[in-house]
Order: sequence, then structure tokens, then C-alpha cells
Amino acid sequence: MERTELLIIGAGAAGISAACAAWDAGCRDVVLTDRLPYTGGILPQCLHEGFGLAAYGSELTGPAYAERLAKALAQTGVHFLPGREVLAVTKEKTAVLSGSGGMEEIRFERLILATGCRERSIGSLPVAGTRPAGIFTAGQAQEMINLHHWQLGSRVVILGSGDLGMVLARRFTLEGKQVLAVLEQEAHFGGLARNYHRCIEAHHIPIRYRCTVREIHGMPRITGVTVEDLDSGERELLCCDTLITAVGLVPERELIRGLEEAPWLSLAGNCSKVHDLADSAAAEGAKLGGQVGRQLVK
Ligand SMILES: Cc1cc2nc3c(=O)[nH]c(=O)nc-3n(C[C@H](O)[C@H](O)[C@H](O)COP(=O)(O)OP(=O)(O)OC[C@H]3O[C@@H](n4cnc5c(N)ncnc54)[C@H](O)[C@@H]3O)c2cc1C
Repeated sequence: MERTELLIIGAGAAGISAACAAWDAGCRDVVLTDRLPYTGGILPQCLHEGFGLAAYGSELTGPAYAERLAKALAQTGVHFLPGREVLAVTKEKTAVLSGSGGMEEIRFERLILATGCRERSIGSLPVAGTRPAGIFTAGQAQEMINLHHWQLGSRVVILGSGDLGMVLARRFTLEGKQVLAVLEQEAHFGGLARNYHRCIEAHHIPIRYRCTVREIHGMPRITGVTVEDLDSGERELLCCDTLITAVGLVPERELIRGLEEAPWLSLAGNCSKVHDLADSAAAEGAKLGGQVGRQLVK
């Protein structure tokens, strides 16, 4: 069984920053692992600008930000294990990994969990009707369009006007698809003002406030949604072939269920709390990695 002083699960902004800071603090035995074959976590699929104002003083795209982090990582001796999904973490300080080479186990002294967050899906909402093809979370859609260049549909409804929803609305529009509406239950958009101006206003995308999706229609493919006005109670059918849900992120902590109080465990980035900005996830990772690294070299 392999052994390491510090194991970091998740090579997004938080995990890479933690690994680099631990190395800089003098810890020379750091393993960083990710289920993906590359570093950067969510960043490579975020083709829009808006990353790195605090850390680098300029607005970078997600891939450019990820590249800077990868360069910093390459200047350390941190051992990166790509393409390894961590399946379990035990109280005996062992992680069970699965990759193309089979299963492996790593024993560690300290663990930093940097597994990011997951998206709330349609199943978590009080929406009646069918569950046909053509419903995606915003992150899934972003990955399929930006990284794999798939065509998801041509008449799109987006539920949720946070940053993810607004960025996706612009992406579909730039791809030549018709965004019929961005639906928001509050009386104001949910994301940053700059994303509202750049994504919604600049592309004349219709946004409807105080309304939500009450029912989904169609099988095997979605054919429409019933939209309810939350103030008047009026309902309207919107015919669409794609529904995107952008209704919130939940910290991803499944791996450490029951181990939350373990003294050897720390959390960084979106699995600790959802960070709107990559700079903030990276800063939290760097602070934590430095602290843990210093404790390990004492
Ligand atoms: C669509 C979108 C737009 C955004 N726009 C901006 C913006 O304009 N400006 C800005 O500053 N910020 C933006 N953000 C926020 C910012 O990108 C994130 O807060 C930050 O990148 C999160 O970093 P992280 O390391 O915590 O998580 P992630 O980047 O999600 O990294 C977590 C990593 O953990 C890995 N992992 C998870 N579970 C396991 C497991 N069991 N085994 C192995 N690996 C695992 C995942 O594969 C992933 O690589 C945006 C986020 C999104 C989703």
C-alpha cells in the first residue's frame, strides 16, 4: 500500500492551491488526486472571462486560470494522480482509489478534501409531470457544449438566474439556439450584476421574474414546461425541447460522512462552502495547505 504524509482529493482551484502551499511550507510528501484526467476541476469548462481579478489582477477565462494553476503545480514536486476516483475514505486514514489500472489504496497522515460541489437536480424540486430526455443541470450542459461540442437542443428554457444560469443562457444564444426564457422565482436576478449585463442584457435574452416551472411535458423527449406566475398563480405552457436547471450548488462531502470530526481531516474550496469566485476557493485552499504543511514538517 502506498503511503503519503498529505493526501489531497480534488485538483480544482482549491486542491491545487492547497498542494502548492503545503509544498512551499516544506512538506515534501504530497499526493494530489482527481477523477478527471486533467487538473483545474470546473475551470476548463468555463470558457467565459471573469476569473482571477483578485489573484492575478486581470480577467481570465476559466481555462487560462486553470493553466496558471497547473504551471504553479508543475514547479513543485507534488505527485499528481489523474484519472483516479476516490471511492471511500476510512477512519484508519486510508483512501480507496479506482482508476484504469484497477483499485489502489493510499494511507495518509493528513487529508484535505477539495471535492468541489454538486448541482441540485430537477429531482430535488417540486415539479410534476414526466422526466423525459432533454433536461440537464447547467454544469452538465456547460461541459457537454464547451468541452465535447455536443448539440443539446434548439428551444431552451433555463430555470434559475444565478451566474451559472445566465452564463449558460449566453452560451446557448451564441450557439445559435433560442433561449425562450430564463425563469427566476425571486424579483431580481440571482447572479453577479456583471454577468446580468454581459449575458442577459447584451444578448436580449428574456428573463421572467417571480415565476417557476410547475410541470414538465413530453416523453421520451421534453416538449414543454408549464410556467407559473408566483404572484398571480397564472399558468402558461412554454414549448421547448431543452430544460436547464441552474438552481443551486451543494458542497460535495459524501466521502467523509461520519468522519467530519476526525482531527486529520480538513476541507477546502466548494466542498467546504460554495465560493462564487475561484480566487476565493483558491485562497482558502492556499491558507489551509500552508497550515497543514507547516504542521507536518514540525
Ligand atoms: C459555471 C460556473 C461559472 C463560474 N464563473 C466564475 C467566474 O466567472 N469567476 C470566478 O471567479 N468564479 C466562477 N465560478 C466559481 C469557481 O469556478 C469555483 O468556485 C471554483 O473553481 C471551485 O474550485 P474547487 O476546487 O472548490 O472545486 P472544483 O473546481 O469543482 O474541483 C473539485 C475537483 O474534485 C474532483 N473530485 C470530486 N470528487 C472526487 C472523488 N471522489 N475522487 C476524485 N476526485 C474528485 C472533481 O473532479 C474536481 O476536479 C464559476 C463556477 C461555475 C460552476
